[in-house]
Amino acid sequence: MNGTADIVGHERVIGRLWGALERDQLHHALLFEGPAHVGKHTVAVRLAMAANCDGPPPLPCGECSPCRQVASGAHPDVLVIEPAAERATPTISVDQIREVVRKVGYHRFSGKRRVVIVDPAEAMGPSAANALLKTLEEPPEGTGFILVATQASTLLPTILSRCQRVRFSAVHSEALTTWLNSRGIEDAGSVARLASGAPGKALELAGEGLAERRAIRDELLAVLRGPVSGIFAYTAKLCGGSRQQWMPRLEQMLDVLQDLLRDAAVIGSGAEIDLIHADERRVVEAWARLLWPTGIAAIQDSIRELRDGMEVNVMGKTLADQLLTRVQSELGVSPS
Ligand SMILES: [Zn+2]
Repeated sequence: MNGTADIVGHERVIGRLWGALERDQLHHALLFEGPAHVGKHTVAVRLAMAANCDGPPPLPCGECSPCRQVASGAHPDVLVIEPAAERATPTISVDQIREVVRKVGYHRFSGKRRVVIVDPAEAMGPSAANALLKTLEEPPEGTGFILVATQASTLLPTILSRCQRVRFSAVHSEALTTWLNSRGIEDAGSVARLASGAPGKALELAGEGLAERRAIRDELLAVLRGPVSGIFAYTAKLCGGSRQQWMPRLEQMLDVLQDLLRDAAVIGSGAEIDLIHADERRVVEAWARLLWPTGIAAIQDSIRELRDGMEVNVMGKTLADQLLTRVQSELGVSPS
C-alpha cells in the first residue's frame, strides 16, 4: 500500500481530509455521505489507518504494525460500529452506542488518534443516535467520529448539525474501467457500466457477479414476456425461505429492474450516457418507447411501495407479485 494511490476517485475529498490530518485539524465529527459502494467506508478506514500509522509517508504505509492492526480490525483505538448481523433489518442498537461511549472514555492505547467509524449511521434509531449526541459533540481529546451514510437526510437534525459533511460522488466510468483493468478484471468496461460509478459494486459484479446479474435480468425479461402464471411461479421461487434468504434475492431483482428502467430513461430522454445493459439495447429501446416517461414513474412508485412494504414486514411474494404485474401491464403485455 502506498498512501491512497490505490483508491479510485474521490481525489478532492482525500486531498482535503489528508491535508487536515497533516495539519492536525481533522474535524472530530465527520459525516461521509454519498451513493452506496463508492468507497466511503474504504476512505474512512484508510484515514483511521493514516492517523495511526508509524511508517514513512505517504500515509498510511500499510506495512507497520498499527496499519496491519487497523486492516484486520484489531487496532484498539479504531472502532468500527456496524449493525448486529443477526437482525433482519440492520440496526445499530443503543447498547452498541453506550458501549462505544464507555470505551472512548478510557485512555487511548497508542497515544495517536482514536477513530470511531459508524457505518451505516442510518442504522442508529433515535435512541441510539441520542445516546451518541453528547460524545459526538464533545469527544475526549484525540478522538474523532466518522459517520457513514447513503441517506444522510434521514439522520436526526441534531446529529447532522454536529457533523462536518463530506460528500462522495460516483466514480467516473473511465477511471473505474482503468482501475478494474489494473486489477485484471475481465470485461472491465461492462462491469464499470453496470456498477454505475461504485467501485465496491464493481468488485462484487466482477467474475461471478456479472454473469449472475445477467442471468437474473434474462430470467426477469422472460418472465415479463410470459403469462401472469409465470410471474407467480417466479415470485414464489424468489421469495421462498426465510426473510434473510429472500430479502437479498428480491433486492437483486429490484436492482436489475431499476437498471433497466434507468436505461429506458436514458434513451427516452436522449441523454448521452452509456447504457448499463448495452448488450440488450433493443429491449431497452422497446421499454423506452412503451414506458417513457409516465410508465417509468409509475413503476418507480411501485418499487418505492415495495421497499416500504419490506420495511414493515409485508410478505415479499405479495409485494413482488404486485410490482411485476404492474410492470407487465405498463409494458402492455396482456395478462393471460
Ligand atoms: Zn503504517
